[in-house]
Parts: sequence; structure tokens; C-alpha cells
Amino acid sequence: MSLFACDFNDRFVDRLPADQQSDNFCRTVNGVAYSFVSPKVTQSPTLIALNHTLAQQLTLATDDPQAIARVLTGNELLPNTRPYAMCYGGHQFGHWAGQLGDGRAINLGQLATPELGLQTLQLKGAGPTPYSRTADGLAVLRSSIREYLCSEAMFHLGVPTTRALSLCLTGDKVVRDMFYDGRPQQELGAVVCRVSSSFMRFGSFQLPAVRGDIKLLNQLVDYAITEDFPHLGQPCKDTYIQWFREISERTCQLIVEWMRVGFVHGVMNTDNMSIIGETIDYGPYGWIDNFDLSWTPNTTDAKGKRYCFGAQPQIAQWNLFQLANAIYPLIEQAEPLNEILTNYAKMYESRWLEMMKDKLGLAQLEPQSDGELFVQLEQVLSECNIDMTIFYRLLASYIPGKSQIESHFLPCFYQDEPTKAMYWPRFEYWISLYCQRLENNSLDDDERARVMNRVNPKFVLRNYLAQQAIELAEQGDYSMIEQLQQVLANPYQEQDGFEHFGAKRPGWAMHKAGCSMLSCSS
Ligand code: AMP
Ligand code: MG
Repeated sequence: MSLFACDFNDRFVDRLPADQQSDNFCRTVNGVAYSFVSPKVTQSPTLIALNHTLAQQLTLATDDPQAIARVLTGNELLPNTRPYAMCYGGHQFGHWAGQLGDGRAINLGQLATPELGLQTLQLKGAGPTPYSRTADGLAVLRSSIREYLCSEAMFHLGVPTTRALSLCLTGDKVVRDMFYDGRPQQELGAVVCRVSSSFMRFGSFQLPAVRGDIKLLNQLVDYAITEDFPHLGQPCKDTYIQWFREISERTCQLIVEWMRVGFVHGVMNTDNMSIIGETIDYGPYGWIDNFDLSWTPNTTDAKGKRYCFGAQPQIAQWNLFQLANAIYPLIEQAEPLNEILTNYAKMYESRWLEMMKDKLGLAQLEPQSDGELFVQLEQVLSECNIDMTIFYRLLASYIPGKSQIESHFLPCFYQDEPTKAMYWPRFEYWISLYCQRLENNSLDDDERARVMNRVNPKFVLRNYLAQQAIELAEQGDYSMIEQLQQVLANPYQEQDGFEHFGAKRPGWAMHKAGCSMLSCSS
């Protein structure tokens, strides 16, 4: 009996060229889209968290957790699975890095689901592949919990993302030097099964382009269009341009959503940019506590701040530029690509304004003046050291003329006595501008609050919450993973008994590893 009620197959494997070398050793792989590879057999696979809603949509039978653990760690292969690792390259921190590929991700194949269509199941941390370079192909529990919880939190926030089906311990130990300080430790090995309709990245097209392998480039682009953008029609030069336009639009929308909820990816390398505009590869990401456009969660990025919160829109455009370069040989016209890239900036600006309009509960945008109001708000939020998530919820319930500003907004300040501080007048001044603006707003206070609470979450996966869940799980207590999963499934709703998950970052978490900065070591 199969674990899934629907068929397992894989068009990526069927339609694209495979590596002919079947031995699993690190190497340069030319001219093909992927390599077949067997997942590593592990000591004692154990299921520790399952996404029941997604499991149901994928037709997974959930009555045998041991069978799920065996299959979703790669210890047991279901009929028709031909596991493989994808070949791709990428720019890392602005520099071309050559071949990267699925170094620790193994695709099991595609499920033809009745509800979600074709979905690829991918195991992260299931052992080495030809693309593992100098690393081990494994993942540890801490980073797997972060991926598992965050991808689902993002999904329920309405942000495009790869999904997470399961989290399993492998039973093996994995050695990691978490702080890169020469003190490696043994950690628990884990595997997340993630799910998406496509795991192709910008770097999937960059690698053949850089190698001058136009035939493979063409095959990959045609495959992506036929499979994931079928509405664009038969692949041809014109379709390629339309395809790039749509990727640009989806990427733009993705970043607007990140900025809306205060998500910082942390490693926006081109190999971590999904071709279908999903958030992919949850590594040293972070969530904004105190609003700060210059904040980056990634220790590797602490100096350059290339991937800080406020840089994400421009970095996405830079990445799109690299993708445009890669597909240029198929189009041979720079103008339409340039036009799309230029348009990205305009599109981002107008979508950002719309998004901010909603965050502030305004019925209509006043294009002449609202931009200034929004920019001033960002300045005030960062100068006054204000918690982004809590601020917007408080703003929704603030009633001009009725609420007392000081006591109403006190909970979103990171300082205890904001009135005494020099920044309070600035904050009050902005609130007065907002109140003036509300005089020209057609929504009454109740309607405004409803609109705002639909786009401003009450609950996000605050960095310190994820870290607390990790520390408990490392002691064998998975209850907080379960609780967070449950609360974050309804991020816009108040939830009795779980208010503490919406509280601002406690003082102790300010400089604690995992709560403020994260290393790439995972
Ligand atoms: P990332 O920045 O995490 O997306 O990783 C960049 C590249 O390194 C990708 O090709 C990954 O597959 C690979 N990689 C990251 N961690 C490991 C690991 N532990 N073992 C093998 N490859 C890895
Ligand atoms: Mg990656």
C-alpha cells in the first residue's frame, strides 16, 4: 500500500536531461538538469511534527507515523520514486559562484494531487549529492524547525512560499560549528519535507547560460513555461519576454509582502530566488521586532548589510537583472528586458504605496501626499525604537479623540518610559498627521480597524519564539512547535490564552544567538 493516495511521478525527470554518472560523489555536472541520487539511510527516523492540513491535501495517510518518518526522511522509497538533486548555479553576495545545486535537498518526485495539482516533494537534509561540494548534505534540528515553522507561518500570512509537510529526526548526529569559532558540536540531524509546484531558481537558468549551453538553457526555459506558466502559451521569443515580465511581477509582489509582514530573508542569492515567486530556502532569516530598515539577521551579512530589510526591493531587482542576462541569448533583444527591469522599480513603488495604504486603513490613496506620510512613519518607527507588528495592531484600535496616545501606544515601545525620551514628540507629531489624514478617510473607526487587522498580523514567528521552541525540542519537548504551528495558522486573529506569542521581544533576547543574529551554519 502506498502512503499517498495519488500518483507519484516526475515530469522534471521525464522531460529534462539526466546526469549519466550515477555514483554519488561531488563533481562538476555539465549539460544536464539533475542527477539521480539515493537519500542516506539513517539510524532511527522519527516523525516529530506533521502539517495535517497539507498532508490531507497531498492525500497522505496519517495513521502510521513510523511509515511517514521512513518515507519522509528518504529511508524508504515509495514505488515510482526516482530521487534526484537539481543542478543550478548562482550569485552569492553579488559574486558569481559557479555550480551550486541541491547540495542537501533531494527531490522524491511529483504528486498529482486532486486539490493542489502537481506538487514536488523535496527532502532537505537527506544526505550528500553530487552538489554537496565540501559539506555533508545534512541538516540539524534547529534549522529544520526554523524552516518548518516559518514556511507555514508565511503561508498563513498570505505570503507566497514553499510549504512544509513534515519534520523528522534522523536519529543521526551532525557536527556543526554554529558560530564559526572553531568549537564544533554534535547536533541532532533532521529532515524537513518541503513542497512546491516548482523548485527551479534564477540560478537554474544562470548556470547553463554562463557555460554557454544554450541548448540546455532553452530546454529549461521551455520546461518552466510549459509546466508552471502554461497560460503564456507555446514557448517562443515573445513568450520568453512575457515569462520574464511575469517573474518580475511575481518577485515584486513577493517583496512587497515581505515588507508588509516584516520578513527579512537574509540570503537573497540568485540560487535562493524561486522562479515562481515563492519564498524559498529558509536559512538565517529573521523577523523585524523593532523597526529597522538596516537590520539583517545574517551574521555573514553583518558588515555589508547587502540583504538587510530595506535593501530587499533593490536586491530583488538586481537578481532579476541577472536572470535577464541569463535568458538574453534566447531573446537577443535587450530593450524589452530593460523595459521590464525599469518597470519593476515603478511597479514596486506603486504596490508598496497600496500596501501601506492598507496597513494604515485608508480607503483611497492620496498620491500627492500619502507617500510622504508613509516615509515619515518609517522614520519615526525606527528612530523611536518601536515594535513594528505591535504598532500596527495598536494603530488599528486607536480612536482619534478618544484613546489616550501615551497609554495606548506604550506597549509597542522598546524603552520603558517613552514620554521622558526625546523621541516622544516625534511620535506624537506623526500620530497627529495620521489623525488629520483620517479626517479625509471614508472608513469609520470600526471599518478601518477591520481592514487594518486583515493585513497587519497579530502573530509572526518572532526570532526568540523560534529559538525557544528549538531549545525545548533539543530537550525532547516538541510542545512549543505544536503550539506555534497552531497559533501561526491564524496570524490575523486575537487568540485567547496565546497573547504571549504576540508580545514584544524580551530584553534577554536582544543579543542572544538565534534571537537577534543567525549564522548560515545549518
Ligand atoms: P544556501 O545559501 O543555504 O541556499 O546554500 C547554498 C548552496 O550550498 C546550495 O547549493 C546548498 O545546497 C549548499 N549547501 C548548504 N548547506 C549544505 C550542506 N550542509 N551540505 C551540502 N550542501 C549544502
Ligand atoms: Mg539555497
